[in-house]
Amino acid sequence: MIDRDYVTSFAELEETIAAEFANNMGHDSLALYQEFHGLHVDGWAGPKTLFQMQLPRCGRPDIERDKAGLLIEEAKWPNSCLRVHLRIDWSGFNESSMGISRSDAERAFRKAVKDWNAAINIVLSLDDGDAYTTIDFRNLGGSTLAWSHLANNNCGSKQQRYDIRRWSFHLLYLTILHEIGHLIGLTHDSQRVIMYPSIITSLEGLTSRDIKRALGLGYKPGKEEEPDKPFIQVGNHKAELDPVEQYETQPRGKCRVRFIEVDQDWTGEL
Ligand SMILES: [Zn+2]
Repeated sequence: MIDRDYVTSFAELEETIAAEFANNMGHDSLALYQEFHGLHVDGWAGPKTLFQMQLPRCGRPDIERDKAGLLIEEAKWPNSCLRVHLRIDWSGFNESSMGISRSDAERAFRKAVKDWNAAINIVLSLDDGDAYTTIDFRNLGGSTLAWSHLANNNCGSKQQRYDIRRWSFHLLYLTILHEIGHLIGLTHDSQRVIMYPSIITSLEGLTSRDIKRALGLGYKPGKEEEPDKPFIQVGNHKAELDPVEQYETQPRGKCRVRFIEVDQDWTGEL
């Protein structure tokens, strides 16, 4: 089973650690992982599997399970709270380490929000809303680029986090689209679309498959475009979150950040 422990451990994967971790996963879990990623399924951590495990990626698991261990297949925002306020805490945003200006980061959020609002009838709002999601920036370490709570059929507060290592506008925009995908209830997709666990840099935005999956959760097609609103400075807002859901991060060693290109195959080196 690929579970939360897998995800938190994933951030530490680097070379030899990856091999050790893969061995600890056990053959069945590794076989599931290989199947999801289209690798040869043998339950053993060969070089291609280890390479895949070291790619920078989203911190959510590829196979989502609830606390009882059951597969999560459908989760969304309830109809009673389809207007969701994104509360962005910029205090951890680091222009020099991220290589992107705050105005460009704001632009990436606006563009991603606008795209999702046009695709489905949830309204992701940058000013106010029925429910809210706190977004912040931290050093996530290891291979983890970003992380988000998954919609869970209730209107409670949720959280989203982005790493403060190097970004570009395009990579951040694609990653925000991906994390918002989780926020509305989408799990990872093994196809090379926005919801693939790593960034597919050649994508221009949401694919028809991503939108079709979102509509499959029970949302209706989007109608109105949300007008641009100013961001609200939140400062050191602390969200009250279920401790089990809270994503734990610890200082970790540096990891070379690498983004995959569409159809890129294994090259045998990092
Ligand atoms: Zn993800």
